[in-house]
Amino acid sequence: MEFSLYLHIPYCQAKCPYCDFNSHAATTWPEEDYTRALIGEMRRRAEEAAFKGNSIATIFFGGGTPSLFAPASIESLLDAADKTFGIERNAEITLEANPGTVDQEKLRGFRTAGVNRLSFGAQSFNDATLKFLGRIHDADQTREAARMAHRAGFERLNLDLIFAVPEQTRADVMRDIAEAAALGPDHISAYNLTFEEGTVFFSEMRRGKIRPLESDEQAEMYAAVREELPRRGYGMYEISNYAQPGRECRHNLTYWHNETYLGLGAGAHNFARDGGGGRRWWNERNPARYIALATETGIAETEARLSNLAPRWPSSCF
Ligand code: SF4
Repeated sequence: MEFSLYLHIPYCQAKCPYCDFNSHAATTWPEEDYTRALIGEMRRRAEEAAFKGNSIATIFFGGGTPSLFAPASIESLLDAADKTFGIERNAEITLEANPGTVDQEKLRGFRTAGVNRLSFGAQSFNDATLKFLGRIHDADQTREAARMAHRAGFERLNLDLIFAVPEQTRADVMRDIAEAAALGPDHISAYNLTFEEGTVFFSEMRRGKIRPLESDEQAEMYAAVREELPRRGYGMYEISNYAQPGRECRHNLTYWHNETYLGLGAGAHNFARDGGGGRRWWNERNPARYIALATETGIAETEARLSNLAPRWPSSCF
């Protein structure tokens, strides 16, 4: 039996105003302690029936911004996962990266550590849009990050885009898609911007400071995206995900197909399939409390038992 492993790195250099993930802006982060906590949790989970004796088919480092961590930390997590469970020889191992946090040496380090797929949060190639979205990088940094990823030997590369940003036009979105495709990724994710409660954008929308696009404008943009990406060779295989043939993200499909996955880290979600139903549980969200619990006693978690399964996505950065 195989399962998928998700590792959540909750730190970011800045909090994007639309983001409702469990991510925390920080100028420094307790990388060693957090890595140790993840390994501690991993070893404890290995004793649970859903995972014991099973090996790992896909791994996904999500966040937050996993590319803030050093390649050595990522390598120690992969070593621990291999020793604890065994990683399949053809495993897909993805790391989410912010284009503003990488250089050539770091990307080579991730590749050497065993990561074989990168996912960059590009979001747009329009600098004004990136600024509005609170991103820490500009379009040139994304272009350079993609080129560096190819040079570092990554054959599998995803670029995330966001559309339906206030004042964005259909032509702007088509330009973003063209720019993304020109960088040669094998996978593009295109997300409709949403205004989630608790985010800065949500409160600005409530106060009338920003105005989302009308829903028919958003629907028209989504339809245009669905047409344009396949026209460029990226077939749609999920609501927001498009890939060249055979390059679908296997880890994403695990969630979509309700297969078992183990989520490690602050706020990480888990699912253990059990016949036609299953058990979901999720960890303590606060990173400092998570570190203390994972290192000392075990994770505080909340659990739900389910009998009728519908596709569901856990949190991840986009
Ligand atoms: S969108 Fe990504 S980079 Fe921005 S705050 Fe959220 S997790 Fe961090």
